[in-house]
This record gives sequence, C-alpha cells and structure tokens, in this order.
Amino acid sequence: MLIVMNHKATQADVNAITKIVSEMGFRAEPIPGSERTAIGVLGNHGYVDDCKILELSGVQRVIHVSKPYKLVSRDFHPEDTIVDVAGVKVGQGHRPVVVGGPCAVESEEQIVKTALFVKKCGADMLRGGAFKPRTGPHTFQGLREEGLRLLAIAGKESGLPIVTEIMSPDNVGLVAEYADLLQVGARNMQNFDLLRELGKIRKPVLLKRGMSATVEEFLAAAEYILAEGNSQVILCERGIRTFETATRNTLDLSIVPLIKELSHLPIMVDPSHATGKRSLVAPMAEASLVAGADGVLVEVHPEPEKALSDGPQSLTFPGFEKMMGEIGQLTKFLLNR
Ligand code: PEP
Ligand code: MN
Repeated sequence: MLIVMNHKATQADVNAITKIVSEMGFRAEPIPGSERTAIGVLGNHGYVDDCKILELSGVQRVIHVSKPYKLVSRDFHPEDTIVDVAGVKVGQGHRPVVVGGPCAVESEEQIVKTALFVKKCGADMLRGGAFKPRTGPHTFQGLREEGLRLLAIAGKESGLPIVTEIMSPDNVGLVAEYADLLQVGARNMQNFDLLRELGKIRKPVLLKRGMSATVEEFLAAAEYILAEGNSQVILCERGIRTFETATRNTLDLSIVPLIKELSHLPIMVDPSHATGKRSLVAPMAEASLVAGADGVLVEVHPEPEKALSDGPQSLTFPGFEKMMGEIGQLTKFLLNR
C-alpha cells in the first residue's frame, strides 16, 4: 500500500502516519519526492483497511498495491482449479461445457422436454431457475420448492446435473439437496451472508458477475466462498451495465483471458443475459469459447414466445441444436490449438 501525502503535509503529519502504521503491525517507509511525499506500507500479507489512514492530516489518497483477494488469486495458487459437477469436469484442459435450459422452471412438461432435448444435442448440464430474482415483484417469481422437485425429475430422466439459483442464505440447505451446481445470480454477487453460507457446503458454486461489479469486486466476492473452505467455484461473466442500450448488457469478453491471468478458478460465460437477444447468443457463446471460456450457459425454451421470463433471449430448440453443432466443430479446433 502506498500513502500519498498532499502538498501541505508537514513532517509532523508524516511522523504521525509512520507511528500509526507501525501500531497496525506494519512498517512505514517515507519516500520524499520533489512535489510531495509518499509513504510505502510494508509487511502486510493482504488488503489493509485504509479508513483510519484516509482520515489523517496531510493524506491525499491511498493506493492499494496488494489486492482484496488472496485465495482466488493465481499468485497464491498457480495451478488451475478443476471443478467437478457431479462428474462433469469444468476448467482448464477440459472440454468446454454447455449448460442449457430455460430461464425458469414453469411446468414438468416444459423442463423434462427441454432436459431431454438439450441432452440429445450434447449439453453437459441442465439449468432452470426455481427461485427467480425478478426486477419487479409483480412478475413470475418462480415455482420455488416445487420447481426444485421438477428439476429433480428432469435431471433423473435426462441424466444431466442440475444448475439452479440460490437467493437466500436460509435456503442453502434446501437448494443444495437438489442442485449439483448452485448458482449465485448477478443481483446477489455481493450478498455476503449467502456467499459465506455457500463457503460452508461441499457442493460447487457458479458465481455470476454483478451487473456493475469490477473484476476486483467479482474476485473479492469469490474470495468469501473460498475463505469459508469451499474452493469449488466457477466464475461466470453475464454482461455488465454500460451506456449502450442496444443489447440488454454489454458482454465483457476480455474478462475471460484476464481472469485466467489473475485467478486459478474456471470461468464460464452466459451470452443470454449478456445480450438479451436470441440472434446474438450463438455468436457470442462461440466467441466466449475462442476467448478461452471453460463453458457457456444459455437459455433454451420449447416455446420462447410463451416463456414466463426471458423469452426474447431464449434459444428455440432448432437454434440450440444449430449452436451445438457449431460448438462441436469449434471445440475440436480449440482442443488442438
Ligand atoms: C439467470 O441465470 O436466470 C439469471 C437471473 O441471471 P443473472 O443473475 O445473470 O441476471
Ligand atoms: Mn433469465
């Protein structure tokens, strides 16, 4: 950490900071400059809370050199983490996986039909929301526990592992009974109590990036789960808010190779929520795999025009089949490059 002093800072200010930093258990190294003094803080093994320092006389700003995450960082853990979702391996060196299914579980017929179809096309896992984080309270909120039971039926009939969203720390036990991979949605990326609870279970977690989260905040959120002892975490880029309104969100594809540099955790991409537009889903799913994603998560519905949520971004069955054919070709190339 580097403490940058302002022009008016006196030697007494610098001395006061040196004293406080050593009381915090670190060493302060003043670096006098022609215009201002900076003070290097040495000896910390992680992020240092800067609140106390920012209040002191003469301080202009604090620059954090060390990051607010450690366990998820590649510096700390150079080998790639491979996440095992009921026998399906996700991570570097493994064939990228495809997770397909509707935004929400709506009926037994809908989820079973979709499960059997995506399985036939080569999908690796089935997705479907039972607890839905909808923007407004007057829309379909999901079938909740009944939805979980229908997912279990579809999982059994298709043989596919189940991915479903968890919204509340109180439901972790319930959802973990049914899910093979517990999804934390964008809106809950910083639900720290939920993340802590998920750190205590022994099932993998799919952590989606918050719609306004920086890469650092995203990794710091994953750190909460690892800090409680669960290192089976898959990150998922799902688009971020920008000035652009032509797509639902803006897919930040550069995060894929960036995460590979910064972290050992696998990263997947959800082009459905990133674009909000059916015609863009397959091209962006394929671009994600070229960028190095360990998998993609896409919404598929037997009748998207009748879907209770996210119909416009849901692939039709023929659309999903076509994308899977293209991904099959692409994967052959990617595994040999
Ligand atoms: C979802 O996957 O259905 C979902 C709600 O996604 P997100 O949290 O990325 O908006
Ligand atoms: Mn959705």
